[in-house]
Amino acid sequence: MLIVKKFGGTSVGNKDRIFNVANRCIEDYKKGNDVVVVLSAMGKYTDVLIDMAKEINPNPPKREMDMILTTGEQQSVALMAMAMASMGVPAVSLNAYQVAMHTTSNYSNARVKRIDTERIRTEIEQHKIVIVTGFQGVNKFDDYTTLGRGGSDTTAVAIAAALHADKCEIYTDVDGIYTADPRKVPTARKLEKVTYDEMLELATLGAGVLHNRSVELAKKYGVRLVVRSSLNTNEGTVVREGSKMEKMIVSGVAADPDAARVAVIGLTDEPGIAFKMFNALAKQNINIDMILQSIGRHGKKDISFTCTDDDADLAKEIIEDLMEFEEIDVDKKVSKVSIVGAGMQSHPGVAAKMFEALYDANINIRMISTSEIRVTVLINEKNTERAMNAIHDKFNLGEE
Ligand code: ADP
Ligand code: ASP
Ligand code: MG
Repeated sequence: MLIVKKFGGTSVGNKDRIFNVANRCIEDYKKGNDVVVVLSAMGKYTDVLIDMAKEINPNPPKREMDMILTTGEQQSVALMAMAMASMGVPAVSLNAYQVAMHTTSNYSNARVKRIDTERIRTEIEQHKIVIVTGFQGVNKFDDYTTLGRGGSDTTAVAIAAALHADKCEIYTDVDGIYTADPRKVPTARKLEKVTYDEMLELATLGAGVLHNRSVELAKKYGVRLVVRSSLNTNEGTVVREGSKMEKMIVSGVAADPDAARVAVIGLTDEPGIAFKMFNALAKQNINIDMILQSIGRHGKKDISFTCTDDDADLAKEIIEDLMEFEEIDVDKKVSKVSIVGAGMQSHPGVAAKMFEALYDANINIRMISTSEIRVTVLINEKNTERAMNAIHDKFNLGEE
């Protein structure tokens, strides 16, 4: 079997943990499997590197930022190969350049385009454990890129897809995928299985346990993912296609504090206004999520929308330069809380139940958006954890 095993920052955070990971990989290797390991930077080292960079220049060039960020993963793969060598097992570390992990050219948020598997295959044929840097790629200018925070998951799935691996295991610091972040919702329960679509929604809506691009790729290439802990041998959660075994209407609750609300008040109520506004924002690569338009009165209307905290000020500037209106207001102290579940499509009343939970907890809803398998509300950021717990309880997600 060919197994891709990815270990996150906590899992390789110190010397003991590095040896723990080495042991787990060697176990599979000694059973006769081909093993490719993908690693993140140790602990919170990526954050340390970001702080280091910002001390020199609060607005560092994006290319140089990726240049420094890729060093975190390069450390951990080299240390892992050294650990394995000290245990008498042949291993080789490879960075994105050596693997030929081709990405789009945009720094800090590049997408994987293609992987030349030749180098990895050659190393595997020589019976080595291959240890690859997560999170990084190389663009058409031969520069390093990074795949966005949490992007090592995506590296692992991309490699698993390219090598047609039999398994892709994501090892982290929790036992699997839970009905909500177990650090925020103490009653959260581990799921045995979750579908790609549900996981994609959860990951996109703030469940940081998997990078959302990794789920997208896993679905596209049919890579079967298992999420489990590197610190114990408990069974994890399987992410895959297909019918749900657990007859749950709602599978999980996710929250994303990285949301801002922009409200544009007193726009002219005439055709083309929304087009003009959102077209200009799209041209600057600003992703808009929830949108609310008021009914027109006295020839005026209001449009509110959400984007990321980082994009909010730029969005405001663009609109100020472009349109006529009475007032514009940016609020960054908001967060999105969502419920996700494939079973929602066939069950009415799910959204109402979520709103009831928020009403009972005396939490005001500021915006609402829905899709076939999710409901998202925008609320004040300070209420995030309370809202997650209230909704989780309302749907009894902690119970089997
Ligand atoms: P790694 O460094 O291993 O990639 P991450 O911090 O990226 O780890 O992801 C694991 C974390 O994701 C957990 O510690 C947990 O707090 C968080 N998390 C958020 N939502 C969920 C969820 N639904 N199930 C499990 N963990 C979640
Ligand atoms: N080290 C990177 C980060 O902290 C990538 C990852 O951990 O997946 O975002
Ligand atoms: Mg992660």
